Amino acid sequence: MDKLVPAQYQPALPLDKLILQEGAEGAGDHMELDVLIVGAGPAGLACAIELAKLAKVDGTELNIGVLEKAEALGEHSLSGAVVNPRAFRELFPDLRDSDFPCRAPVSKEAVYLLTAQRRWRLPTPPSMRNHRNYIGSLCEIVRWLGAKAEELGVNVFTGFPAAQLLVRAGAVAGVRTAAAGLDRDGKPTSAGTPPNDLVAKVTALAEGTRGLLAQAWCQWQRVPSENPQIFALGVKELWETKQPLDRVIHTLGWPLPSDAFGGSFVYPLEPNLVALGLVVGLDYRDAALDVHVLLQRLKQHPLVRELLAGGELIEWGAKTIPEGGYYSLPERRSGAGVVLLGDAAGFVDVPSLKGIHYAMQSGIFAARAIFQNLKSGAALSEYDRLVNASYIAADLYRTRNMRLAFRDGFYLGGIQAALMTLTGGRFPNGKYRMHADAEVVRRSSAGARPGSDESPLGVSKVDAVFKSGNATRDTIPSHLIAPPDVPVEVARFYSRMCPAGVYEAHDPDVGAQHAAPLLRINAPNCVDCKATDVLGPRWTPREGGSGPKYKRM
Ligand SMILES: Cc1cc2nc3c(=O)[nH]c(=O)nc-3n(C[C@H](O)[C@H](O)[C@H](O)COP(=O)(O)OP(=O)(O)OC[C@H]3O[C@@H](n4cnc5c(N)ncnc54)[C@H](O)[C@@H]3O)c2cc1C
Ligand code: SF4
Repeated sequence: MDKLVPAQYQPALPLDKLILQEGAEGAGDHMELDVLIVGAGPAGLACAIELAKLAKVDGTELNIGVLEKAEALGEHSLSGAVVNPRAFRELFPDLRDSDFPCRAPVSKEAVYLLTAQRRWRLPTPPSMRNHRNYIGSLCEIVRWLGAKAEELGVNVFTGFPAAQLLVRAGAVAGVRTAAAGLDRDGKPTSAGTPPNDLVAKVTALAEGTRGLLAQAWCQWQRVPSENPQIFALGVKELWETKQPLDRVIHTLGWPLPSDAFGGSFVYPLEPNLVALGLVVGLDYRDAALDVHVLLQRLKQHPLVRELLAGGELIEWGAKTIPEGGYYSLPERRSGAGVVLLGDAAGFVDVPSLKGIHYAMQSGIFAARAIFQNLKSGAALSEYDRLVNASYIAADLYRTRNMRLAFRDGFYLGGIQAALMTLTGGRFPNGKYRMHADAEVVRRSSAGARPGSDESPLGVSKVDAVFKSGNATRDTIPSHLIAPPDVPVEVARFYSRMCPAGVYEAHDPDVGAQHAAPLLRINAPNCVDCKATDVLGPRWTPREGGSGPKYKRM
C-alpha cells in the first residue's frame, strides 16, 4: 500500500448510542441538578465557580454538579503550561497574581530553529512572547480551582465519566454515566455498578479536546463549522534536572519532517523541574511518523541533551489539542439546554499555544448566560454573543489562517505566517480550506525505528505509560471501537500514531491455519489523549478512574 487515507478505515461516530431519550431503561440512580457540567478542567471549573458566585450574590439556591472521569481532580489534566492570567483575574478579582496556582512568572524566553546538531536563535514572534505570563502545571491549577468550587458549595463528582447525552424533545436534558465493574465481555462482575442518570436544566459540555458528547451534539443538531476541526498530538515529559533552566524555550524544525507542523516546548516549573514537550499536527503526511519517538529523538539534540544529562524522568503524558482555530469553531456553541466550553468548542490559539485562559473565560461567560437563563428564561445564545464580542473571538480571528498556512509545509507556511503577523491577520484575504485530519493522504515509508534505545535519555512506550501513573485494571472491556479488519499497513499506522502503545501491528503469518489478528489492542494502556478518535478507532468513555494519574502535568 503506497498511500493510506485514515478516514477509509475509521468507524463512524456511534450517534445512535450517544444520544439517548431521557428515561430510557438501564440506569441505576437518578439525580436532578440545576446545572450539570461535564469535565473538571479549567473551563468546567471556572463555569462552576462563576455560577456559584452569581447565585450567592443573588441569594439564590443553585444545585451545581461537575462530573469528571478521572479518579481525582487533575489526574487527566495535561498542558504546557504557560498561562495568561487574564481569566484568573476576572474570576477572582479580589486575589493578586501571586495568589494564583502558578509556579513562576516568565522572566526570559528564547525561540530556536533546530537542525540535528545545531540551533539558531530566532527573534521571538509576537504571538510567542510570554512576558507577564506564568509557568504552571494544569494538574495543580485544576486541583486549586476544584477546591475553590467546593468551598462555594459545588458538588464535584470525580470518577464519573459521562457516556451518553440524555435528550428530551430536541433539547439536552442531562447525561448518563458509564457503567463500572464490567468484565472483558462487557458483563457486570460482582463489583459491577450500573450507569447513573443526571438530569439538569442546563448541561455544559466542558470535556476538553475532541469531546465525545460535544461531537455527538454538533452532529445530532447539524451544527456546522466553516472548516472541520483539526488536531495536534502533544507528548510531554517532566524531568528533574541537574542543570537549572532560567527561561521558556520553544523550538521549530528538527526532528520534524518539513511537511509536518509542530514544535517543542521546554518550560521550567522550578529551575530544576522542567516540562519538555513536542506537539505535532495530526495532518502529518508520513504514515510512519511517531510523535513519541520524535520526542525521544529530540532529547539527543545538544540543546536538550545538555539540560537533561544526569536528570530523571518523573512523569510522562500525552493529549491532543484542537488546532483549527477560528474557522473550525462550531457555528453556535449553545442550544436548547446545552452550552459547549473550552477545548470542546475549539477555543485554542495555536500560534501562542494558549487555551487555558480561553477555556476559563468561556466558562465565565457560560455561567453568566446560564444564570440569566435560569433566572429569567433568557436564551442561552447569550453565551455565543458574549464569546463573539470578547477577546476569545478577536484573538482567534487575528490568527485565523496561521496554522492553516502550514498545510503547505513548514517553509511556505513560515513565510505566510510571517506575512499574517505583519498584517495583523489581514493577509491573505479569505480563508484557507482544510481537510479533516483523517482525510489527509499519508505516504508509506519505513519511518523511524520505534524504541528507547535511541539515546540514554529515551523511554519506550511501555515505560512511558508506567510513568503516566496508568494502572487501569487489565480485565476492563475495550473502550475503543476498531474497524473489524484492517490491512497490516493501517495497523502499523495506528501503532505509531498511539503514543501509549495501545495498538500492536502483527504481520500476517504466512501459511498459518489460524492467522493472528493484525491489530492487537491493549486498551488498558490508553491515556485518553484522543488521537485515536481523530485518526483511527473511536474512543469512548470507560469505567471511572481508568487512565492516567497525572500529578504535575
Ligand atoms: C501538550 C499541550 C500543551 C499545551 N500548552 C498550553 C500552554 O502552555 N498554555 C495554555 O494556555 N494552553 C496550553 N494547552 C492547551 C490547554 O491545555 C487547553 O486549552 C485547556 O486545558 C482546555 O481546558 P478545558 O477545560 O476545555 O479542557 P481540559 O483541560 O482538557 O479538561 C477537560 C476535562 O474533562 C474531562 N472529561 C473529558 N471527557 C469527559 C467525560 N465524558 N466525562 C467526564 N469528564 C470528562 C477530562 O478528564 C478533563 O479533566 C496545551 C495543551 C496541550 C495538550
Ligand atoms: S488509544 Fe488512547 S492513548 Fe492511544 S491514541 Fe487513542 S486515546 Fe491516545
